[in-house]
Amino acid sequence: MTPGDESLRADAIVVGTGAGGGPAATALAEAGLDVLVLESGARHETRDFDGEPATMLPRLMKATTVPDSGMELYAGACVGGSTVVNDALCWRPPPEVLARWRDEYGLRGLEDSDFSRYADAVWQQVHATPTGPGDLSRNARLLERGAQRLGWVGEAMARNVRGCAHLGLCNLGCPTGAKQSALLTWVPRAERAGARVQPRTRVERVLVEAGRVRGVEARRLDAATGQAGDLLRWESPLVVLAAGVLETPALLLRSGIPAGAGLQFHSSVSVTARFPERVYGFYGPTMSYAVTEFSDVHGRQGPGFMLENVTVAPMTTAASLPGFGPALEHAMAALPHLARTVVVLRDETRGRLTIDRQGTAVVSYAPVPHDLERLRLAIRQLARLYLAAGAEEVWLPIEGLAPIRREAELGGLDRVALTPRDFTLLYAVHLFGGANMSATPQTGACDEFGRVWGVRGLYVSDASCLPSNTGANPQITIMANALRIADGSALASGPRRASRRRHSSVSS
Ligand SMILES: Cc1cc2nc3c(=O)[nH]c(=O)nc-3n(C[C@H](O)[C@H](O)[C@H](O)COP(=O)(O)OP(=O)(O)OC[C@H]3O[C@@H](n4cnc5c(N)ncnc54)[C@H](O)[C@@H]3O)c2cc1C
Ligand code: SF4
Repeated sequence: MTPGDESLRADAIVVGTGAGGGPAATALAEAGLDVLVLESGARHETRDFDGEPATMLPRLMKATTVPDSGMELYAGACVGGSTVVNDALCWRPPPEVLARWRDEYGLRGLEDSDFSRYADAVWQQVHATPTGPGDLSRNARLLERGAQRLGWVGEAMARNVRGCAHLGLCNLGCPTGAKQSALLTWVPRAERAGARVQPRTRVERVLVEAGRVRGVEARRLDAATGQAGDLLRWESPLVVLAAGVLETPALLLRSGIPAGAGLQFHSSVSVTARFPERVYGFYGPTMSYAVTEFSDVHGRQGPGFMLENVTVAPMTTAASLPGFGPALEHAMAALPHLARTVVVLRDETRGRLTIDRQGTAVVSYAPVPHDLERLRLAIRQLARLYLAAGAEEVWLPIEGLAPIRREAELGGLDRVALTPRDFTLLYAVHLFGGANMSATPQTGACDEFGRVWGVRGLYVSDASCLPSNTGANPQITIMANALRIADGSALASGPRRASRRRHSSVSS
């Protein structure tokens, strides 16, 4: 850094612009701090979203394969992070999960009432809106119909949208600007409060001296080639890490700070069904209805999974169907008649994130038998539901199993000795932990206020600091927790800055 170069110095640095970074940058900037936001992804605006998977997926998302299970992990990689590619589903933080974090993990600062204030502010900021019957796609209504015929509990899920045009492109960046991702909400709000957002800037390491954070080292990434430039030093007494579960723990490890344990996901597989009528499951909100009968949060006491309808987009549908060649062709030829639902399992498995010699994250996650058995149960229940709804044929997401036409044919599912590699596509988009809040330095990376143990001024505010999975789609919980942590860090950042405090993020 050249002396006097203010662009490389700030009161606070936030790393990442997704569900954990956007709210943190907003709260700190609105508290009067000079905030620099460093984001490794590019900035694409609504006008850039053309709905083409071939152009949008490489620009907006990154995929990682878990070596030991073959599981696929997906995350956003652009300004706005995963919120740009997510399905806009909103659940309030489950009280059972907050209670568990308090009672089992000793995080006493996470009282439900306090957390609720932040969740309310988030709900309002991202325009979380009830989904009415007119917003349910035919795909969603078939899930609802099956649940009603079996007497199972379900509901339309709230979505953070304004004027959704039902294009079904939420995972490719919403081309109408209806989805209220961090790109359209938190990031511009932080900028209005003076935050400077620098896309294409990858943070490599946190700088620590004498137990205090001093800033970060980062490289700018060339817009045309993606090539990383020289290592630059950005200085700040306050650094908030929100680079997501696949990067925040790796960043800590690259900086010589302990992290990486306690990773946990919501494992997902999907079941596809062919109906006599046209479903056009690729139109409408990509996801909107949930069968909550088997959930174990928000008052339910089931085995711990939700069933949520999901888009029948050609690429992801083909990837999740069993078979190759003519068998796959037969299924895909019926695309307009297909409905699809994804299992969102509240895993018990715990994984680990380490780094290789280059400092790149390596994830280890081997689903425990109980999780595999609950996935089997979820697939069985979904097959039953679709048959009850009137499906002519149901494909289970397991290689080697023929499609079924009646419940009696479900025996094949029971006989398979399930391993993670038997699934056509086992994946997760809800990732948690790796730099978790904890009551002691022995059990996690940071305390209940997101303060990294042993490094003053260093915080974690993204999904990696959550001590476990949430059992429901997590973006609201992550954002609420990030606001809570950032409010605390702004207050703790010293009397000079506290005196510049304009207003608290929860007040608007
Ligand atoms: C396809 C998909 C669908 C989903 N659907 C829903 C849904 O409908 N509802 C819901 O509640 N949740 C959903 N989720 C999950 C939710 O979006 C995420 O849990 C949440 O966004 C995670 O927040 P985060 O801040 O931890 O990470 P992210 O939001 O992923 O943000 C991390 C950011 O850090 C950046 N970054 C990474 N490394 C670096 C680095 N070294 N330097 C600088 N920047 C870096 C990344 O580019 C990214 O922008 C979905 C996720 C995906 C991928
Ligand atoms: S369904 Fe709605 S939120 Fe999703 S891409 Fe279309 S307009 Fe945007």
